[in-house]
Amino acid sequence: MTEHFDYDLFVIGAGSGGVRAARMAASKGKKVAVAEERYLGGTCVNVGCVPKKLFVYASQFPELFHASVGFGWSVPQQPSLDWATLRDNKTAEIERLNSIYNNLIDNSGADLYDGRATIAGPHLVSVNGETYTTRSILVATGGWPYIPKFPGSEHAISSNEMFFLDTLPKTAVVVGGGYIAVEFAGILNGLGVDTHLLYRGPHLLKSFDREMSQKVVEGMRAKGVHIHLSTEVNEITKTNDGLQVALSNGESLSAGLALYATGRQANSANLGLENTSVVMAGNGSIVVDDQFCTAEPSVYALGDVIDRVQLTPVAIQEAMVLVDHLFGGGIASIDYSDIPTAVFCQPELGTVGLSEEQARAEYTDVAVYVSDFKPMLQTLGGGSDRITMKLIVDSDSDVVVGCHMVGDHAAEIIQGMGIALKAGATKAHFDATVGIHPSAAEEFVTMRDKTR
Ligand code: NDP
Repeated sequence: MTEHFDYDLFVIGAGSGGVRAARMAASKGKKVAVAEERYLGGTCVNVGCVPKKLFVYASQFPELFHASVGFGWSVPQQPSLDWATLRDNKTAEIERLNSIYNNLIDNSGADLYDGRATIAGPHLVSVNGETYTTRSILVATGGWPYIPKFPGSEHAISSNEMFFLDTLPKTAVVVGGGYIAVEFAGILNGLGVDTHLLYRGPHLLKSFDREMSQKVVEGMRAKGVHIHLSTEVNEITKTNDGLQVALSNGESLSAGLALYATGRQANSANLGLENTSVVMAGNGSIVVDDQFCTAEPSVYALGDVIDRVQLTPVAIQEAMVLVDHLFGGGIASIDYSDIPTAVFCQPELGTVGLSEEQARAEYTDVAVYVSDFKPMLQTLGGGSDRITMKLIVDSDSDVVVGCHMVGDHAAEIIQGMGIALKAGATKAHFDATVGIHPSAAEEFVTMRDKTR
């Protein structure tokens, strides 16, 4: 006898991965529920990628105003920003996206529950006072910013709050050396905030190609961000004017806000996972196998809550693989190699494949091509921006194993390079490709001389 369940799949969390899984499963005629306690679209849409990119655009205007003069434009001596307009226009756009997500779920035929769902058993989910039976459960609850505990840590805010500030401070301290820290340091600096970026280690963006992350540091400093490396915060105290941030090197900084971008933790607490056999790692992330199945055969998890690669497009691909496994042919799989990624710091960093350090560890003979030049906009526009591009080639096979760029439009350009690397392109393929002139991207196909 086939067991009857209210649902085939109950998804907890309507972020990028959860919504994709729910829609795909519903489109296959399955009975699907999605529960969300906060906002539709998850971190990416509400307090991540999307509003962040809008703020990045906003922060780039002062340099464009400056550059426009060389092209004959007149601009006011002191263009000014109305923070409330930017913040509220951003929020209105996010609300528009929330309603699109609502429609997507509705149109797919899945049931949407507005509330916090908990797992009552391997096939039971409770939400809003009701308990439903389900053949499978998907935990797609994402992550949450982590702020370490130290004297005065209660005065620090996370990236979540940055999107809703009442006012923009005159001075800010940003702590961390990863994606979010460098992105917000660039945003604040561009919006006119005197910005200090503090990182406890010697190298920002330490998992990226060292030469390229060094270019980011140089570029950020040239734009006015005060970068303090190998520096920690001892204490934050509240003063009449704002905050006083005492540093490990004995210095102290006054600031209107202290943003902690010190990583994100899996949202796995108080979900009722103890009512199942689900196993969690020491950092709270849920342990899954290649098919995203937990130690409880009916419970699956994907996206930031499994802490593999915390990127929206990865969560979406994971969702497609899961739905294929549960309700399709079961042949889809995800390849975590050569994932293109971009850091929307200023200058922007785009990358796919191996860093030079990784390539040298993996291959015996590595050829490196580097090109560093002034972007064309600067010829009339002035400014000190540079663009750096780098190709890393396994000399034995001629395959391009790493492709990196720092500078304007790096994300847009590296996306295409991602296809080339996925296809196994060789340096000869790059050389045989006709450039688009005049563009920055053409440099990737005209690097004839090996740098080292
Ligand atoms: P990251 O893990 O990238 O960086 C965290 C940083 O905080 C590291 O530099 C780490 O230092 C530092 N840190 C950790 N703990 C402490 C501590 N106790 N005191 C001081 N510093 C500390 O996390 P983010 O928060 O920047 O971003 C989270 C993830 O979100 C990213 O890894 C990325 O996957 C994703 N993301 C992607 C974006 C994009 O695609 N553009 C944009 C934003 C986020 P150390 O290295 O020394 O441990």
